[in-house]
Amino acid sequence: MQARDLLSNCQLCPRSCGVNRYERSGACGGGALARVAKVSLHPWEEPAIAGPETGKGAGTVFFSGCNLRCVFCQNYEISHYEKGREVTSEELGEIFLHQQAQGAATLDLVTPTHYVPQIIQALAYAKERGFSLPVVYNSSGYESVSTIELLAGTVDVYLPDLKYYASELSGAYSKAQDYFPVAAKAIKAMVQQVGRPVLDAQGIMTRGVLVRHMVLPGARHDSMKLLGWLWQTFGNDIYLSLMSQYTPMYKAGEYKNLKRRLTTFEYQSVTDYASELGFTQCFIQQRSSATKAYVPDWQDDGL
Ligand code: SF4
Repeated sequence: MQARDLLSNCQLCPRSCGVNRYERSGACGGGALARVAKVSLHPWEEPAIAGPETGKGAGTVFFSGCNLRCVFCQNYEISHYEKGREVTSEELGEIFLHQQAQGAATLDLVTPTHYVPQIIQALAYAKERGFSLPVVYNSSGYESVSTIELLAGTVDVYLPDLKYYASELSGAYSKAQDYFPVAAKAIKAMVQQVGRPVLDAQGIMTRGVLVRHMVLPGARHDSMKLLGWLWQTFGNDIYLSLMSQYTPMYKAGEYKNLKRRLTTFEYQSVTDYASELGFTQCFIQQRSSATKAYVPDWQDDGL
């Protein structure tokens, strides 16, 4: 299907707004042109995405807007307030080529869901001009299987979040009561499409799925349910990243459990459970990551 058809009756994500994005934006804030908030080299992604410590890091391209929009989003300035600049698909392709020329380990597309048609066009443009980095699709996990299918042959590595098991949590924090069944189907489609993780000689992931989960305060049992499902469904056919970096931001102060940081006990009990289940390919985060210092500087868009 052509980009114009996909955007003129937008069903790209499970929100299924059906809007004509040439005339107005839907729940994600995305219009007809991709809007880029920041381009940078990011050393703090998982080593399989950022590459060796001596390297430049992941070549991140942060897109503005979001189809999930969590109340605690650390990137709220770009996801909720839609700060950023519109670019054509050719300009986006040039950005991808620039990231490669800068020495990025991977191309890390952050919150790309609502711009899939534009990204496919931009990657085709860049590949015709020598682009060859592993393409990482770094999303909230709230995806439609049909959109994941559009990405076959374009994306090498899927980096989805798996955020909530309970519909009470996903409804309250992301206005998406169906989050878990939708994300579960999408992650199955991702694994089916790209297969088991493959790493190159430098330890950079060139294919596969790395599922991220950020443990939320007051929700460690929900985290354990997600881990149980992931283990039963995929075993060690995926990589796992357990994040401790939760910091109360944006509207978090309005929710009883989200006002505080995660405790060491909460995080440790979840990482211990992953190990008990048998996960061997699991990235664990330093507790010192739970600070606003790890939020990118949105004033410098790198464009
Ligand atoms: S991508 Fe945006 S406009 Fe399209 S269905 Fe999702 S939220 Fe609606």
